[in-house]
Amino acid sequence: MQNNPPVFRKSSLWSAALAALMLLVASPARAEPPAAFDVRVENPDGAGGRETRLIFSLDACVPSQAYVLDQPPRAVLDLPEVKFLIDPSHGDPASAKHKSRRAAKNAGKPAAPHELTYRFGRLSAGKSRIIVDLPGPAQFSAACAPKNAGGELTLVIKPAEPAAFHAAARAGAETQDQARRDATAAIPARAPDSQSDASKPLIVLDPGHGGVDAGTIQGDVAEKDVVLEFAKALAGPLRASGRYRIAFTREDDAFIPLQERVRIARKLGAALFVSLHADSLSSGAQAVRGATVYTVSDRASDAEAARVAASENQADSLAGQEQQEQAGDVNDILFDLTRRETRAYSNIFAKYLSERWKIAATLNKNPQRHAGFVVLKAPDVPSVLLELGYLSSEQDAADLTSPKWREKAAAQAALAIDDFFRGRPTVAAPALNEPPRTP
Ligand SMILES: [Zn+2]
Repeated sequence: MQNNPPVFRKSSLWSAALAALMLLVASPARAEPPAAFDVRVENPDGAGGRETRLIFSLDACVPSQAYVLDQPPRAVLDLPEVKFLIDPSHGDPASAKHKSRRAAKNAGKPAAPHELTYRFGRLSAGKSRIIVDLPGPAQFSAACAPKNAGGELTLVIKPAEPAAFHAAARAGAETQDQARRDATAAIPARAPDSQSDASKPLIVLDPGHGGVDAGTIQGDVAEKDVVLEFAKALAGPLRASGRYRIAFTREDDAFIPLQERVRIARKLGAALFVSLHADSLSSGAQAVRGATVYTVSDRASDAEAARVAASENQADSLAGQEQQEQAGDVNDILFDLTRRETRAYSNIFAKYLSERWKIAATLNKNPQRHAGFVVLKAPDVPSVLLELGYLSSEQDAADLTSPKWREKAAAQAALAIDDFFRGRPTVAAPALNEPPRTP
């Protein structure tokens, strides 16, 4: 009996020590993914040589899977989650920031003979990716070696025979197909606000891009962040109204393929799908600004709409994603009727949105356009794509990054959604046999 207390005390000391040790093991420092803090390009055979190396400095080595894809030729390196502490404009030779930085560095020196275009970032929880645009058929390998208490991840690119490259690209597409099947099974069903009444119309908000696909970048501002902030600002008044259920295609910095976004909207039974983006002109035309509301059509309304759709439809390819088979046009009269009705509703909403938008924010001088956006192709969900403005315009960029502007503009967009659903029975999807209401 007398011996018990000390034994007890000893064991409690021991368990406290064990708990402290476990805390140390599971400390946040260990839970954090490895970080990449620098990247450089090397040509070991000298400028214009055959081999190009892209070297990332990491604080710990990571395993990786390297493969190539074709159409367009790309080298893809899949990694466990890595925190990239590197400016995303690295690897983008077209970036104004990159150009000015390089110009300052290379003042008086001849231009670099070979510009490598690459992207890197988060793909989804636990996964990251590096994508390199290849100038032509190439051999691609990667390895990580310990260096300076961390690791150096070296990507090696060498020219290859076209036949060998095409065979490797076919194998790469299969590798990715398998990974995608696993990932799709793992994607959580983005359930709408669970507590709310299922009879309320469901609005799916779709912030464009994300993760490895930053969208357009101007200075320190990336499209993927601007549109996520706006989606959250728009969800605020919609939720507060109590009239809708809200779901997001992404709520964090993750890459979601275009067709997956459409699939989420259809699977959840969305009554309205709003895709959010921001545009940019490389020519830096300051005068071009304001929001544009796009709807889907087989033929683009104008050359500018065609350019925007082509650029937004590139998202999967830029993120190193093999093109998914697009469902061919169904030659079915009922399908065609449904799609026509859906498009009529999309156009009605586009009109409401542009009318409300101009009250609080700037509209492009031609604010309603249409083109073949992949993300707007759900045949049974009215869908629009709102380009919030041009990050290439200083005025628009100031607006888009201002919380005050965001709140004002989002409030008007929420009112446009009210206009759209006003007088309608609150069903999950618009009654498709009802002729579209003319405003
Ligand atoms: Zn975009």
